[in-house]
Amino acid sequence: MSVRPDADVDSEVRSGPSATSDLIALLGGTFDPIHIGHLRAATEVALALQAHVRLLPAKIPPHRPQPMASAEQRLQMLQIALAGSKELSVDDRELRREGPSYSVDTLTEFRREFGPQRPLALVVGADAFAAFNHWHRWQEIFGLAHVVVLDRPGAATAFDWAAELKSLVESRSCADVAELRRSGSGCVCQLTIPGLSVSATAVRAALAQRASVRWLVPDAVLEHIEQAGLYRGRAP
Ligand code: ATP
Repeated sequence: MSVRPDADVDSEVRSGPSATSDLIALLGGTFDPIHIGHLRAATEVALALQAHVRLLPAKIPPHRPQPMASAEQRLQMLQIALAGSKELSVDDRELRREGPSYSVDTLTEFRREFGPQRPLALVVGADAFAAFNHWHRWQEIFGLAHVVVLDRPGAATAFDWAAELKSLVESRSCADVAELRRSGSGCVCQLTIPGLSVSATAVRAALAQRASVRWLVPDAVLEHIEQAGLYRGRAP
């Protein structure tokens, strides 16, 4: 079941999500670099869940090619992009941990910090979720957090999911995002958001060819990329 945020997006972006919100949403990624697809998706999640969203850059993403920019550069771009945001922030705990950035380890840390009851939601793009059953100790993740699957333009749909993922989603499916506050973990919720077909791969490819990426990344991030000479002349 897909859930559409039906809130008044503009007015809620202005006021920001409730400061007393108890649900913590986590969006992991490589952010190589952060772009408007990430930012808009994270904002939609904040509105739909009425929760603060932490963006967690991975130091060593275990399930994909390694990033081109260093951990420090990716963190710096995130900090620039999120400066002044009420509803989004960056959490650098995976960058401070050695070894592959497994979500199960990150969520275990959050559990230690916030206790067993606090609702946690791991937000995963539908493209990444299609391979969720190959993630390190993936079944343990449902004992640590809820999982919110974000429909992304062009991403794999439920039709493409492996049988074990499909049946898991069916057995844990929640009909409404309100259910994410009724327990600390264990539900799977699909959230459809208006799509922006932007990827970091496309941004890197354009930068490598010295083509413009204006409006694909925030202006301040673009300025930083240009000043630091990131992604220039290198194949993505
Ligand atoms: P790359 O092109 O290098 O694979 P990416 O653009 O997919 O990168 P990631 O850092 O890998 O970016 O993504 C982090 C998370 O954000 C993932 O869950 C991904 O599905 C999601 N995401 C990335 N781009 C978008 C987008 N345009 N709309 C919605 N979600 C997105």
